[in-house]
Amino acid sequence: MKSDARVVVIGGGVVGASVLYHLTKAGWKDVLLIERGELTCGSTWHAAGGMHTLNGDPNVARLQQYTINLYKELEKISGQSCGLHMPGGIMLAGTRERFDWLKMAKARGRYLGMELELISADEAARVFPIIDKKHFVGALLDPIEGHVDPYGVTHAYAKAAQIGGAQVVRHTRVTDLKARGDGSWDVITEAGNVHAEHVVNAAGLWAREVGRMVGLELPILAMQHQYLITEDLPALKGQKELLTCIDFEGEIYTRQERGGVLLGTYERAGVPWSPLQTPWDFTQSLLPEDLDRIAPSLEVGFQHFPALAEAGIRKVVNGPFTFAPDGNPLVGPVRGLKNFWVACGVMAGFSQGGGVGLTLSQWMVEGDPGADVWGMDVARYGDWATLAYTNAKVRENYSRRFRIRFPNEELSAARPLRTTPVYERLQAEHAVFGDYCGLEHALWFAPSAAEATEDITFHRSNAHPHVAAECQAVREAVGLLEISNYGKFEVTGPGTKEWLSYVMANRVPKVGRIALTPMLNERGKLIGDFTLCRLAAERVFLICTYAAEQYYRRWFERHAPPPGVTVRPCAMEYVGLSLAGPRSRSLLQGLTREDLSSAAFPFLSFRRLDVGMIPALVGRISFTGDLGYEIWVTSEYQRALYDLLVGAGAEQGLKLLGGRALNTLRIEKSFGTWAREYRPIYGPYEAGLGRFVDLEKGDFVGRAAALEERDRGGARRLVSFTVDASDADASGDEPVWHDGKVVGWVTSGAYGHSVRQSLALGYIPASLAGEASGFEIEIIGERRKALRQSAAVFDPDGSRMRA
Ligand SMILES: Cc1cc2nc3c(=O)[nH]c(=O)nc-3n(C[C@H](O)[C@H](O)[C@H](O)COP(=O)(O)OP(=O)(O)OC[C@H]3O[C@@H](n4cnc5c(N)ncnc54)[C@H](O)[C@@H]3O)c2cc1C
Repeated sequence: MKSDARVVVIGGGVVGASVLYHLTKAGWKDVLLIERGELTCGSTWHAAGGMHTLNGDPNVARLQQYTINLYKELEKISGQSCGLHMPGGIMLAGTRERFDWLKMAKARGRYLGMELELISADEAARVFPIIDKKHFVGALLDPIEGHVDPYGVTHAYAKAAQIGGAQVVRHTRVTDLKARGDGSWDVITEAGNVHAEHVVNAAGLWAREVGRMVGLELPILAMQHQYLITEDLPALKGQKELLTCIDFEGEIYTRQERGGVLLGTYERAGVPWSPLQTPWDFTQSLLPEDLDRIAPSLEVGFQHFPALAEAGIRKVVNGPFTFAPDGNPLVGPVRGLKNFWVACGVMAGFSQGGGVGLTLSQWMVEGDPGADVWGMDVARYGDWATLAYTNAKVRENYSRRFRIRFPNEELSAARPLRTTPVYERLQAEHAVFGDYCGLEHALWFAPSAAEATEDITFHRSNAHPHVAAECQAVREAVGLLEISNYGKFEVTGPGTKEWLSYVMANRVPKVGRIALTPMLNERGKLIGDFTLCRLAAERVFLICTYAAEQYYRRWFERHAPPPGVTVRPCAMEYVGLSLAGPRSRSLLQGLTREDLSSAAFPFLSFRRLDVGMIPALVGRISFTGDLGYEIWVTSEYQRALYDLLVGAGAEQGLKLLGGRALNTLRIEKSFGTWAREYRPIYGPYEAGLGRFVDLEKGDFVGRAAALEERDRGGARRLVSFTVDASDADASGDEPVWHDGKVVGWVTSGAYGHSVRQSLALGYIPASLAGEASGFEIEIIGERRKALRQSAAVFDPDGSRMRA
């Protein structure tokens, strides 16, 4: 084994091998993969090898498409067969709701260029003859589905990488990792040390243990997973290969395996494997079969697929593989650990391994993943994702693998975990809570405890009239919203202004003022939207998206401030309440000595004020688009502040509102939000944020690319629509049609209660941005007429928030 390498990849499963191949493809040849056993000896070797393109996150779906299309290229380069079978796939719906879900999946697939087809139960039985059609209402066909040979794929990646210059060392365990002062690593192995500039943790079943070598507790957990292979079925003899299949109601997947059928299940009572520590001597091993555990699923399966009930079982496989809490991979550089990268938690290695390898290699070589990979970025988890939290969420996710996630559905595992001081007060007001990064936040308020649960549905739910009343209070009187779930940073010290001016696209505001600003990457794409609140010459309070805190911190490490400037995350130190609505000023004025008139405290002011006895930071801004204030206090004051505002608000008609109403109100104002309208595939001019980019202020990250986008105009435009919807509104990812063609997609949607219209925000080609009509938005399989609006539907000139 050589003693120096530019990159050491730890782990020779399908993911590590893919990373190795993609690094060589991207031009890094001095790369070494170290594997403790044989290639594939972790979870890869016993996988069922199934692959499909559908994923709840369209950006992950794109990477799955890439993976599947890669296999032919890989075979060509390596000369190694991947055992590719592409019979196509069928997804069976046993209920109307599931069929609606399939309609939506088909719609989403349209703008990804997928050729999906909805068929009846009769047609399903014709193309997939082993079902009893009485259990199904219809199905979705996907021509790009199939399965591969896990051994073949992994070796094909490894061989192609070796042809590209990589080295592979087997039977050598990495036992420790030591960081050097310059950011490089000593990789300690059983066969000597390797000095590497970069280390990639692709250790699959042991990724958690390899993480621990560098003090990192990765949120991943292995689950036991079983499939069985039947004896040959006479019905399959001489026929073309069966489609791969997912039977959602049976929570079963199948594919043909020689003359029989492979049937796997994600049972509800899934069992973790080695929840605390993965044993190092588990090599090319399986777990004892436990058919009793999957018996309930098998029973359904045998009813749905009667031919299987008659066939004997040839083999049962029970093997572990890893999941992150949300089931998506963990990929990318790890904050706080220079040149340490992860590619783990990949639960669908044969659909996702190629995309993960491509993304990570581009990130390492180019400094940017080259795509929108937020859905699998390791930075989406923070310290709150502990071992026990991960255990609860992974078990929940595993048991729900084939269940519908409704757009308004909140999951119950690991809750409540994080609560703010006013949690019980909101609970007493019948708040229906949602979970955001483990933090409870009110979604809406029910009139009584008995009504404080929400029906999960694709349509408008029982929350609709209550959210309407909350919106009305904001537009006509005053609403009170808890806003603790925002991210916050405090930047202090000499050089604060200059550093912020370099990492943010807008000008740093004057003392006492607020500025909204995008944060761009070097490619001029949106990687954040911030509110900069300047408290003093060298003290700026940043408000942003809490879910992206680690992501921002990683970026701030990469563009580190000069000595003397401190960037301090303080999200949970400052909790907040917001007042919004025409009576918010008179309410707050009654509680403070400061003059809150528009002349003295105009729109976008920010100041340290006493509210009653409470020291607070107050900004005159509201995401509702109405006159409003954001009031930030350290947590010990939040209850007193709440009581004060609620007490004083009674005579002003104050009403509590939650996140649902806020979403509606901001969409009425065409305000975008991170991870929806603002993502790293859009530029600021495309997203309508051009007015917050100051190209005149001097250099900043992404300036050259932003300038180019401004001059060329960008490819897309974020626009607002009113939608001719009846009882279901867009919620995101629906296709936008124009003149019979899919031209774009929805990023957010809701019913606009103040304007009594269904609304959507979405991206369309810039060339169509001047058109008002001819658009349709597909909601649950129906194309609804949509009118593009040239301005926000509520208060288009923004006079209310400036009042
Ligand atoms: C029963 C079953 C069925 C499945 N079916 C499918 C399917 O149909 N489709 C699909 O896409 N996925 C399927 N999977 C999941 C699939 O197996 C995983 O997504 C995939 O194997 C993950 O690969 P990996 O490279 O991340 O991990 P692993 O395969 O676990 O590879 C990690 C490698 O790292 C090595 N390693 C770890 N630590 C060290 C160290 N310190 N030093 C050196 N080497 C080290 C290990 O020996 C191992 O070879 C299935 C899994 C199971 C269990």
